[in-house]
Amino acid sequence: MASTSNIEIINDALKNNVNFVNSIIENGTKISAVIKGNAYGHGTSVVVSALEGLGIDHFSVYSSPEAFEALKSRSNNSTIMIMGFINNEDYDWIISNKVEFYVSNIYALKKAIAVAGELNKKARIHIDVETGMNRTGLTFSELKKAVALIKDNKNLLDIVGVTSHFAGAESIANHMRIKKQFTTFKKRIKLLNDNGIYPKIRHIASSAAAINYPETKLDMIRTGILIFGYWPSEESLIYYMQKRKLKKNPLERAIRWKSQVVAIKDVAPGEFIGYGLSFQTQYKMKIMIVPVGYCNGYSRSLSNNGHVIVKEQNAPVIGSVNMNMIICDITYHQGINIGDEVILIGKQGNSEISFSSFAKMNNSLNYEILARLPENIERILIY
Ligand SMILES: *Cc1c(COP(=O)(O)O)cnc(C)c1O
Repeated sequence: MASTSNIEIINDALKNNVNFVNSIIENGTKISAVIKGNAYGHGTSVVVSALEGLGIDHFSVYSSPEAFEALKSRSNNSTIMIMGFINNEDYDWIISNKVEFYVSNIYALKKAIAVAGELNKKARIHIDVETGMNRTGLTFSELKKAVALIKDNKNLLDIVGVTSHFAGAESIANHMRIKKQFTTFKKRIKLLNDNGIYPKIRHIASSAAAINYPETKLDMIRTGILIFGYWPSEESLIYYMQKRKLKKNPLERAIRWKSQVVAIKDVAPGEFIGYGLSFQTQYKMKIMIVPVGYCNGYSRSLSNNGHVIVKEQNAPVIGSVNMNMIICDITYHQGINIGDEVILIGKQGNSEISFSSFAKMNNSLNYEILARLPENIERILIY
């Protein structure tokens, strides 16, 4: 059954962005495409197959259920790496399928060793070390315990990587903290090496760090937002463009969210539109209804505030965003008919609602808006 809106994922845009990411790394640095949160709302299966077609063979997810989705979607022998939560009962499946995973505490390490022992297979782990974000990761004392466990169980563990995460590399305000984290990271790697443990892939940089702190790219970067065509922050875009003296944003948004006009009507002056009293007509207006509302991820904070594109022109949202629909002002538009395409995010001809402007209208970050796009909206890959 057709949904009331659909999401197009534009392969050429993904290709442009993968090329961009390739241009900021050196030979020898690998790309892991981060596809947590249903590939930042773009849809795991669509994105995995598109990115595999563009040469990506390493994917990072947050949890074991996400790894399951990613593994189902891959057609090559791409690596799947879990950076976060694992259900206890999933270790078996993970180790059997050679899915890689972070070990962020002693409990997880012991569990990995136990299950690997039962299966008589190696667990492919990345040692997640605490470097100052104070979120997940082995603290210094835990790391020393982990080293002992690893040495005792070498036959059950494949130490694929060592990793950590920066606490906000997208903003210069965090500069000292990021520098300190990187120094700590290098010390922790040395501790491992001094104990005869040599993880093959040292990785800490996400998109923001790869842009702002090139020295942190090491063996692999984990990049999500850049691949989808957005910057980790406006600051990181300005910094990058100024440094390179670029006139144009080198990234292209890969998403187009569209719906259609389902009704058009005239409203007399002095009438209220939609629920309550939040919008009153000052003159005779023409309005259209679009069947997308907050249950579809179109935020209520866009009430009397957002806009959409129809016939390549902006149409403001008037009144409140309802659960299943919005009402838009088309008083000054010509020739709009029921069934015409409406763009909620993305391009139509020369007009664009960028996700950044959408996020700003919505007082929110690109990441949050994208990740909240519901899974049940159909995603289509456009070549
Ligand atoms: C989300 C995430 C990333 C990717 O961040 P981007 O800013 O999208 O590049 C990298 N590492 C970890 C641990 C993450 O959670």
